[in-house]
Amino acid sequence: MTRELREAAVGRIAGCIGDPVLRLRFLRAVAPRTSFAQRVSPLRLRHWILWTGLVLLLLIPFLMKLAAGKPEPPHAAPIPPRRAAADGAQRTVSVWQVEQTGDAEFYSNGLRVDTRLTVANRPRLYAAFPRAGAASIDRARRTQPAGIVYHTTESCQAPFEAEDTPVLKRLGESLLEYVCRKRAYHYLIDRFGRVYRVVAESDAANHAGYSVWADDEWFYINLNESFLGVSFEAQSHPGQTEGVVSPGQVRSAAMLTEMLRSRYRIPAGNCVTHAQVSVNPSNMLVGYHKDWAAGFPFAELGLPDNYQRPLPSLWAFGFDCEPAWLASSGSRLSFGVQLAEQDFVRRAAAAGIPPAAYRKALRERYRAWLAEARRAGSPVAQLRSGSVGR
Ligand SMILES: [Zn+2]
Repeated sequence: MTRELREAAVGRIAGCIGDPVLRLRFLRAVAPRTSFAQRVSPLRLRHWILWTGLVLLLLIPFLMKLAAGKPEPPHAAPIPPRRAAADGAQRTVSVWQVEQTGDAEFYSNGLRVDTRLTVANRPRLYAAFPRAGAASIDRARRTQPAGIVYHTTESCQAPFEAEDTPVLKRLGESLLEYVCRKRAYHYLIDRFGRVYRVVAESDAANHAGYSVWADDEWFYINLNESFLGVSFEAQSHPGQTEGVVSPGQVRSAAMLTEMLRSRYRIPAGNCVTHAQVSVNPSNMLVGYHKDWAAGFPFAELGLPDNYQRPLPSLWAFGFDCEPAWLASSGSRLSFGVQLAEQDFVRRAAAAGIPPAAYRKALRERYRAWLAEARRAGSPVAQLRSGSVGR
């Protein structure tokens, strides 16, 4: 039956039904199927949407827990490694020592290291905390450096002009004597780009204070022990992004970084600035030290822009970030802070724990690991230890 014939027949039958209600029922019963929205009145449709939305909202937390599996407290939850940056700068250049004299070492990439004033300090020994088993008590005891922290000395400066050379030399010599006495860094790069070894590489130097970092596999607490300290003779101002160091210093830092990464197989992501790693446990804020909060020449040193790495102090240990500190830092570091804060929220949700409680648990973990890191680096631990890491 065609549509026209069918409609004509329906019309004739409907005309024979006197009662309008019955007629309407008949017409509805024989009417062609329409869409759901056409068949339901607007008011009923609104009610249906409202109730469905409400039920879904109530079900979302339950569904998220199902997707995340059994919630675990943060101290027991393994923290998966982050994907390594797909960056050519991850590759290390092979650098080897070519010659050594009583005063200096020479390397295959053109690096010259002045060793006349090198001093000893306590031998390096530290605990690294595995990311894959954050709840386990297995720690790696290590004696080899895992990374580099870059600093500025924030010392007195003269204009970098040829006629000021005598003053520049005097200031540099005075600074060198001071940092050797304080065992302040492993390396100092003066304003002419000359590289001095201050503390022996086998020893810890007093450069990073309270500090934290993480790579794809490990957490590091208090980087005096685990990271090498490289400092530029320089003075910077908050937010300064250019002109902090001389071109000669940048070239030397690139060669020094190449040599250290080659010697110790240091990942590019573990070459970071003091502002990125510094924390203050007394108020649980990041950025106690602010050197290189902005303007570090990562690219010129053959490194990826590590300012973009989320700060582990925020996402792994529950530290906070003061808005004033963030405002004085560079926009590149702010990006790493934002990523870390997003990471924190995501991890709290995945664990099914409210953010405040999650932060509290992370801070407890930090304090426990801090105590352990101190024990690992103590003279007693050094005497007892017979094990060495990478
Ligand atoms: Zn510093």
